[in-house]
Amino acid sequence: MARRYYHPFNGNRYIGNTNTNEVHDLENEKTSCRINEIKHDHIVNFNPDTHAQAKREGFDNCAYCIGNSKY
Ligand SMILES: [Zn+2]
Repeated sequence: MARRYYHPFNGNRYIGNTNTNEVHDLENEKTSCRINEIKHDHIVNFNPDTHAQAKREGFDNCAYCIGNSKY
């Protein structure tokens, strides 16, 4: 499992799930992330494509691929 080069992932490393408000790192994706179960309407990209940007936008870390989840 890794980056996906199609919409709405667009090859980005970090993707946000607006339903759970969590950010995932696709370079370290785990089965428990259940990326393929996220509705595409709930997926957002970050610009720039960095973890810092996801945090600036208020996303919480995924406990599986990033760790240090607040919830
Ligand atoms: Zn994850």
